[in-house]
Parts: sequence; structure tokens; C-alpha cells
Amino acid sequence: MSQNRSSPSARPVSAVSRREFLATSSAALVAANLDAPPSTAAQPAAKLALDGGAKAVTQKCSLGLRWGEPERERLNAMLQQDTLFYWKGPQTTLMLERFKEVCPVKYAQSCSSGTAALHIAVLAAGIGPGDEVITSPITDIGTVIGVLYQQAVPVFADLGASTYNLDPTDVERRITPKTKAIIAVHLFGNPCDLHALKTIADKHKLVLIEDSCQAWGAKFRGRPIGTIGDMTCFSLQNTKHITCGDGGVVGSSDERFGPLLQKYGDKGCDRIKGGGFHAFSTNYRMSEPQAAVVAAQLTRLEAIAAKRAWLGNLLTEKISGLSGVIPHQVHPEDRCVYWFYYFRIKPEAFRCDRAQFVKALVAEGAPCTAGYIAVPLHREPVFQQHGFFAGHWPVREFGLTTMDYTKHQTPEVEAILKTGIRVVIHEGMTEEYIAGVAEAIRKVARHYAA
Ligand SMILES: *Cc1c(COP(=O)(O)O)cnc(C)c1O
Repeated sequence: MSQNRSSPSARPVSAVSRREFLATSSAALVAANLDAPPSTAAQPAAKLALDGGAKAVTQKCSLGLRWGEPERERLNAMLQQDTLFYWKGPQTTLMLERFKEVCPVKYAQSCSSGTAALHIAVLAAGIGPGDEVITSPITDIGTVIGVLYQQAVPVFADLGASTYNLDPTDVERRITPKTKAIIAVHLFGNPCDLHALKTIADKHKLVLIEDSCQAWGAKFRGRPIGTIGDMTCFSLQNTKHITCGDGGVVGSSDERFGPLLQKYGDKGCDRIKGGGFHAFSTNYRMSEPQAAVVAAQLTRLEAIAAKRAWLGNLLTEKISGLSGVIPHQVHPEDRCVYWFYYFRIKPEAFRCDRAQFVKALVAEGAPCTAGYIAVPLHREPVFQQHGFFAGHWPVREFGLTTMDYTKHQTPEVEAILKTGIRVVIHEGMTEEYIAGVAEAIRKVARHYAA
């Protein structure tokens, strides 16, 4: 945690001394915001595009087609096959080989979605009725669907103010004798503090599952994410870094869990051991056409991840030191792959609200939206009503949990969602484009500075 806070390029403005701030910011941008010494000439803020001024972002950057020759080649190979079933399928085999090159794990299993991968991991961890699983409330609901289907209880912890990842101290505070696992979500492609979380998990004998769905190609202290936790789960849904429309992968190097992944994605059928159904699960298989596309997509991953990491870090560099703006905080030794870039504004630093700030950014041509999910997961109606199973939640009705989501509090999470602005980052963007986006943020921030 303390390591995460020490990132020199991405510290919150409040943590930067005025002297450092002046030293690292251009004089022109400082002048508009601070009670600068009289010798620094105040420069009038440029006219907002919203008020008829010139747009800060002048380029267009389209993502374009994300598939082509490599996918065509794999799909053509697939068409020569007499079966499209996954088990021992050549496309699935190749896909999993290539997966293990980017995420070196001993066991890997393809499946139908990230949600499926997470459910398989929860099954392999042996999580059952009344067990508690600590995770992030800012995530895709797929993080907890498997937990709920096992009649276990998601316990939502608070997050780091500008990493947007699990706060290890708050995680430890929420551990009870019923806690069985932690699901660490690498939100927006930014690695969680896996050292701290692994230490806590080991100390309390919990299973650490990485939700790597938004973090293809990310690295924690130089190591691929997914190789530090006990199990890791990836999504291949259309919005993710690489995709086959819908799909997922679950992996593990742990002998306790790795050998279970196949059967828990395949109706409980162990295709190596055979011998009837000794386990119960649903059908989460991925077929050969999807695997063919993924095998090809995996050859594109490193370029995509590297480009996004570079562009996102560039944006941080260009907006750090800007008064009232808190950049996306990434540990300097980690690789964040920016599924999105997410920065926060300090409400008291501006004369406008976030909606107006975003409106002005969009007018400048910057690809921004306010916030991410509307509310933390536990404030969604289905959680507030505890109505997961035809309006019921058996574990609560039968006294296996006293969880009451209407009383669950995660204050930093609320602030992250209320004051955050999400910026699209993709591999079709250029350095000049990001410079334009940064200029838009500076221009709007200066214009509305309190
Ligand atoms: C996308 C996503 C999931 C679910 O993946 P699907 O493939 O859509 O089921 C789970 N967790 C996170 C963090 C995600 O971004």
C-alpha cells in the first residue's frame, strides 16, 4: 500500500509540495490556478470549445477493425476439422498454449465468459453456502455472480483513492471466521497490490483469486498478473483488450485448484479421469470457433498492452501537477494496461460540477464520460432487496449470514464514483491525440478553477 502511494508520477496533487508542483508544471499552467508570485505573468485561459473556442483535440483516432489475417488463418484451419468440440480441439490447444506464454500458469481452461471463469475459480476454491468472499464493489457484476450462485456472500471492501483497487487494510478489517477468499479486481487494467493481498490471504488461509478481466497484459512488479494469486480469471468479452465476442480463461499453478478447473467448466465431467459425476457445475464450455479467434488475438496482445500502457502513462505525465486533478495512480514498477483511464477531480477546486466539467471536455473532443458504474454493486436494487433467487436469498433467510447490503458502507468507493472521469484509451490512438486530450483537461481545469 505504501509502495503504491509513492509513485512519483502519479501522486495526488495534495501530496506534492508547492515547490515541487511549481518545478514540475509549466509556468503558464500554474499561473492560472495558484496564487502565483507576481513575477509570473498570468495568462488568460483559452476559450472553451463549449463557448465557441477551438477544440483542444483536433485529431480523429479510430480503433478500426480488431481482427484480420491472423484470425482468418485460424478460422480457415478450423473449417478443415470434423468436430468443433473443445476437448483436445486443435484451436483450443493452441489458444491455451499461447495463453500460457502471456500468463505462465500450469493449468489453464477456456470457458464461455469472464463470469464463467470466476464461477469456476469459486467452485475450485470450494466456496459454499454462507462462506464470505471479500472483493471490490466497483467492478462488473460478473465478479460476484459465481459467489452468489454458490450461496456464498460477497463482502465489499473499500478501495484506494486513486488506484481504485482493494485497500489491503480495509480487506483485513473485514475478515471474519467465515471468510474463504479474496477476489482482487485489477480495475481498469491497474494491478492490485498483490504482495499485500497475498500476505493477508496466506496469514488468514484464504484463497486469492485474481479478476484479471480488464487487465490482459498487465504486470505486477514486472511479473504477469495472474501468476501471483492462487487462481486467475480473464474475460474475452467484446470490450476487453482481446476478444472473441464472448469467452473467458481461468488459470492456476496450484495443485489444489488447477486440476479442478476443467470439470467445473464442463458440467462436473472430468474428461481425464472419467468415472461419472463427482462434482456439480454448469456448462461453461467454449467451442473451437471462439478458440480459433482467441488463438489469433493472443498474438496481438503484447502490442495492444504495451501501447495502452504507454498512452495512459503519457496522459498521467501531461496532467500531473494540475491543480484539483488527481491522475490515475499506478505503481512505477507496474504495468497498467488502461482498459480505461480514470482520473478524479476535487469538487472544491472547481466552480463547476463534474457533469459540466465532462460536458466541456466532450466539447473539446476528448473521449470522456462521468464515472463508471452508476453505484457500487451493493447499492444496486437486487442487492438492496437481497432478492437474488426469485426474490429470495436463502442463506440470509436460513440464518447462514446476517449480511445487510442496505447498511454496507464503502465511503472512498462512493467518492471515486462521484468524482471520477473516465477517458477512453485504445491502441489506435497516437501521442499527439493524447497530448490533445491532456490539453483539453488542462484547459477545462483552468477555466473552471475556483
Ligand atoms: C468483463 C468483466 C467481468 C465479466 O466478464 P464477462 O466475460 O463479461 O462475463 C468480470 N470482471 C470484470 C472486472 C470485468 O471487467
